[in-house]
Amino acid sequence: MSPPVDPVTPTKALPAKADVVVIGGGIVGVSTAYFLAKKGVSVVLCEKGRIGGEQSSRNWGYCRQQGRDPAELPLIIESLRIWRGLEAEIEDKVGFKQAGVAYLASSPEELARFEKWADFAKQYQLDTRLLSAEEIDDIAPGGVKKWPGALYTASDGRAEPSMAAPAIARAVQRLGGAVLTDCAIRGFETAAGNVSTVYTERGPIETGALVVAGGAWSRLFLRRHGIDLPQQSVVSNVMRTKPFDGGVETSVSGPNFSIRRRVDGGYTIAHGAASNYDLTPDSFRMLLKFWPAFKAEHRTVLPRLTSRFFEAIRQDRKWRMDEVTPFEEKRVWDPTPSDKILNEAQQNLIAAFPAFEKAEIEERWGGAIDVTPDAVPSISPVDATPGLFVATGFSGHGFGIGPGAGRLMAEIVTGVSPCVDPTPFQFSRFHDGSKLAPFSFD
Ligand SMILES: Cc1cc2nc3c(=O)[nH]c(=O)nc-3n(C[C@H](O)[C@H](O)[C@H](O)COP(=O)(O)OP(=O)(O)OC[C@H]3O[C@@H](n4cnc5c(N)ncnc54)[C@H](O)[C@@H]3O)c2cc1C
Repeated sequence: MSPPVDPVTPTKALPAKADVVVIGGGIVGVSTAYFLAKKGVSVVLCEKGRIGGEQSSRNWGYCRQQGRDPAELPLIIESLRIWRGLEAEIEDKVGFKQAGVAYLASSPEELARFEKWADFAKQYQLDTRLLSAEEIDDIAPGGVKKWPGALYTASDGRAEPSMAAPAIARAVQRLGGAVLTDCAIRGFETAAGNVSTVYTERGPIETGALVVAGGAWSRLFLRRHGIDLPQQSVVSNVMRTKPFDGGVETSVSGPNFSIRRRVDGGYTIAHGAASNYDLTPDSFRMLLKFWPAFKAEHRTVLPRLTSRFFEAIRQDRKWRMDEVTPFEEKRVWDPTPSDKILNEAQQNLIAAFPAFEKAEIEERWGGAIDVTPDAVPSISPVDATPGLFVATGFSGHGFGIGPGAGRLMAEIVTGVSPCVDPTPFQFSRFHDGSKLAPFSFD
């Protein structure tokens, strides 16, 4: 079941030419297109389904600095700066509110890990701090459990996934950019080594630059062109309540539950420590690259053999530019949510915050998260193919960093001085082995 997402009236005609073509109408693709259009660059964004139809409308809506890989901190700080001014800048609603994020510690050991992160964050002048058991009640009233403490960042925020990507896409159109939906990009061609033509299901676009912001589909797209992006998909489960006064404004994650207040007055609820991993042939091809990540997450990521294995075999082929591709066969990836995991999350939440017993569940859904071996995205040129860029692999935390990632990608494409050092996001690190394990303080 798909969560709600605001509609965008698509641009009708496919432009024959553009300076830059962007694949994907998620938060990263629309933000990239927005920052390009703001610079006066002619841009066409093609989305195979609907704007924000996949991860960008299915996520929890946390826009958080705390707990991140150090590699991402300068970019998320920039992204939060953009979020704070975004509604005024684009004159549209994205539902952003600086309401803070808190992680409740389940044990003294976890609190000690949080403390290491808070100490580390001081060098970035973040307002992250540890909360005592009593202070937790101030930001999350109504709790009945005694937590050893919490990690809390007041300057973290939340935005509304159903609104954000569509609002930014409309801003792209107002700046003169084209935003097409139900328009898959099938592939590209090069001339003298440089990207020269992009093939969509509605015809070709002449261009010198292509940005792949295709979320969980980016690996399949690049593989068609012989480019190896190590990326796997993990299915995460979410539900939302009807409008209801739970009394908690801060976004709170505790042991095996998480909540975020919604613009409509309800809550988005998830488990946080259990996702499903559908095995595919790629699971075996990329076993070595993902081994450190699998070891770190093996308690929370649950492998299973499903029909997805055979679907992936069918998708994994070399198609021609005049044939229907896997992108057109599955306009919106809408995984079935796990009731078992969601029921457990609901029980854990009620046990910690009994007010949620009254919350009526309106809807449940799944979302396929694109994960890289080190859980850091790639925002980078692909050196072997001039004119080809990737902004993908956000590993379950790309919504909050999306506007910043879009700005950085636009700066890399146009060759201007980037807002943050792009080195940690280089595509080449996947192949030279420079960073292949997720960050950890353990
Ligand atoms: C359940 C869940 C909870 C999450 N919680 C959070 C959170 O609280 N905070 C946070 O920061 N992040 C969170 N995330 C992660 C976040 O949602 C993603 O990292 C982010 O939305 C990625 O944006 P994207 O634009 O890269 O990808 P997507 O939003 O997936 O967009 C990619 C788009 O590309 C399109 N596409 C693919 N291939 C083609 C093609 N060939 N032609 C045309 N279009 C194509 C797809 O249809 C899709 O719409 C969560 C994710 C999930 C699923």
